[in-house]
Amino acid sequence: MPVSSSRPMATPLYTAVAYTSDDADALDAQYEGQTHGYTYAREGHPNASVLQQKIDWLEGAEGGVLTGSGMAALGAIYLGLLKAGDHIVAGDQLYGRNIRLLTQELPRFGITASLVDPTDASMIEAAITENTKMILVEAVSNPTLRIADMEGIAKLAKERGVLLVVDNTFTTPASYKPLEHGADITMHSVTKLLSGHSDVTLGYAASNDAEINRKMMDAVVTWGMTPAPFDCWQAERGLHSFQIRFEKAQQNARALADCLGDLAGVETVLYPGRRDHPDHNRAQAILGDNPGNMVSFRINGGRKEANKLIRAASHIPFAPTLGDIGTSISHSASSSHRAMSPSERAALGITEGFFRISVGIEDTEQLIQEFTKAVEASTS
Ligand SMILES: *Cc1c(COP(=O)(O)O)cnc(C)c1O
Repeated sequence: MPVSSSRPMATPLYTAVAYTSDDADALDAQYEGQTHGYTYAREGHPNASVLQQKIDWLEGAEGGVLTGSGMAALGAIYLGLLKAGDHIVAGDQLYGRNIRLLTQELPRFGITASLVDPTDASMIEAAITENTKMILVEAVSNPTLRIADMEGIAKLAKERGVLLVVDNTFTTPASYKPLEHGADITMHSVTKLLSGHSDVTLGYAASNDAEINRKMMDAVVTWGMTPAPFDCWQAERGLHSFQIRFEKAQQNARALADCLGDLAGVETVLYPGRRDHPDHNRAQAILGDNPGNMVSFRINGGRKEANKLIRAASHIPFAPTLGDIGTSISHSASSSHRAMSPSERAALGITEGFFRISVGIEDTEQLIQEFTKAVEASTS
């Protein structure tokens, strides 16, 4: 590279797979930690380091671990910290793929999981066995936006000496910082709100315990879950606007939730910031004034009415993701919860008329008009 006495202001993209050293002693010094440097991209690269430090800062963590996806971050947690015979107690409304990982993949390695309702810490407590090593919850559940009993669960985890992992993807550090509230590990699908533009797949996990971070990092490097430089570079750019995107999206979410609540065709609105939310008091205690950008609602009707609504909301992408800069709408019965029977779904309140909105940063009035038009079309 040309020598320069000045440095680039924006982070360069380092696509190199390998790094050269001056001599064998220099490489020794680096491996022994006397100097800092990179050797082979699977073991770490500058774009991962830059992004990781920025997310660490948001989460109040130090030495977090970046991975090629949110699922890989969960993989790093399980594979790095557990062994055959261990048991996990997890929330019963987690991200669908995580449920599959817990109930179908990990058992092949001798690790088992019990899924229970995290809105009640006593349910978690009842599921703990002598082999339980980990509790894993999401503070806000998908898609019904119920709030976990985070205080009770953190206290329980401490008392029982069990690791507490919080999937902080929905809540983000703008609403909730798990490590400040007794969690041992916080994790993210960076794919969602943190990068925010639906063009990157990445994950992150961090603990305040350096030994835990080292074990997760070892799993990442050994199982090959390392993120690509370009994705880290792209996500860093997205992260620069995270706080401002979050604030605007949340402001829109509040306005949209209130608008939906007033529409005749809407049966129920679920937004943790609204007084009529089943866990409103707990949401205030845990999330403060930041109930987030996710709004769910139910219309009176079945698949036919649902299809009408989706088609009428022609400016809103119908897509099973969240956290994009633009608003998107998803239909849980045909996507995230399609593997469940209609009666299992009904028990969670997920009918054919149930929708989840990931609210973005559009003009508030336009957003409200679009949804008003769509709900009216569904009932006509
Ligand atoms: C999307 C998501 C994941 C998985 O992340 P990917 O980046 O898609 O692998 C995990 N947890 C939650 C809550 C998610 O929304």
